[in-house]
Amino acid sequence: MNCEIIAVGTELLLGDIVNTNAQFLSQKLSSLGLDVYHQVVVGDNLGRLVEAIKLASSRSDIIITTGGLGPTDDDITKLGLAKALGVEMVLELNSLERIKSHFIGYGKPMPIINERQAYIPVGCKAVANDNGTAPGIIGEYGKKTYISLPGPPREMIPMFEEKIMPYLKQKSNYIIKSHTLKVIGIGESAIQECLGDIIIGQSNPTVALYAKDGEVQIRITAKTQDEGLAYERIKAVEKQIRSILGINIYGSDEDTLESVINSLLQDKNKTIAFAESCTGGLISSRFTDIPNASASYINGVVCYSNDAKINMLGVNKETLIKYGAVSMETAEEMALGIKKISNTDIGVSITGIAGPSGGSDTKPVGLCFIGLAIDDIVKTYSYIFNGNRRRIKWQASTKALDILRRTILDIEVK
Ligand code: ATP
Repeated sequence: MNCEIIAVGTELLLGDIVNTNAQFLSQKLSSLGLDVYHQVVVGDNLGRLVEAIKLASSRSDIIITTGGLGPTDDDITKLGLAKALGVEMVLELNSLERIKSHFIGYGKPMPIINERQAYIPVGCKAVANDNGTAPGIIGEYGKKTYISLPGPPREMIPMFEEKIMPYLKQKSNYIIKSHTLKVIGIGESAIQECLGDIIIGQSNPTVALYAKDGEVQIRITAKTQDEGLAYERIKAVEKQIRSILGINIYGSDEDTLESVINSLLQDKNKTIAFAESCTGGLISSRFTDIPNASASYINGVVCYSNDAKINMLGVNKETLIKYGAVSMETAEEMALGIKKISNTDIGVSITGIAGPSGGSDTKPVGLCFIGLAIDDIVKTYSYIFNGNRRRIKWQASTKALDILRRTILDIEVK
């Protein structure tokens, strides 16, 4: 069975709002094993909406609209559906009562204009809206199913999850299950090369790569009639991928690099502090985004100027004069300094040139030094990152976190 989503609203076409309803519905429909072949956006224009519904009817089994169920003249979805189907509109008394009681709940009589919302195309059923006035509708005409949902996500999402999903589940013979592996430290093309045979040779489950924010996600998706079988197939492919990529896979699904590191630190009973120059607190900010970061995170400082590095971390003035603020030596002293003042097991430092200015032949834009002090050992690493300032900062923070992860796991950092 294939579905088509028609989002109705001129606001969408003008770019005033983003079509998050289509994203939500596509994800949910896919999880139900229903294929979405088309997404359409149409403005509040009756003629074009009727055209869009007729086109959708010619190529899709299930047509889902969102938006345009309100009481005003530009809310035309149900009328458009009735016209496309060639049926009349009829007053649905249960919906009328619900709308009236919605207003009574606010101590107000129902404005006459809202009565319009209780009209539905003949042959459709109303779907009660527990979070607003506009009822949704479901209609089956021949082999085609039509579903109309309200536009506001706070009304649309609960209606879909609570009332439409159970209905659609009966229509799908398949379920789709996905599992995402998250990889760091190896690029998309290198992964593609390593996994070539697995990616090309698989049709169920499929294996797809997505590069995202300095990491690569590998999504394994199985479509089966049985949930257990879907997991079994995913597990078999996951095993193959893990045997190839090993420790470069830092986590899966909801894991983030930060959450994985926090768990590792807790398991090993270690505490951490960060000293940041070029990343301006980004690592600390990312780390403290995870709930329960306080179990391992003790302190973070942004020491941007030379004076701050000297006064806050005890970096030697001579080191800064001789080697510069962006140097192995400074990164090393920063890592030792933050570990000492925070009294933690591990201190991580970062200093670099985020650009666009400030680079030289010997120290180009993107050059970053990362220091890591743990127990009595301190190591420094240097990298050159590409891109604009924001991207360099992000990549540097990701690299520092991955070095931290690998160090905790006792794996060589390259
Ligand atoms: P209402 O009864 O509030 O008028 P409606 O079903 O008629 O609801 P619209 O008038 O089309 O819906 O949209 C109302 C609001 O819902 C929009 O201003 C927007 O904030 C949100 N909305 C509508 N469509 C979408 C969409 N496709 N994605 C995300 N938000 C949307």
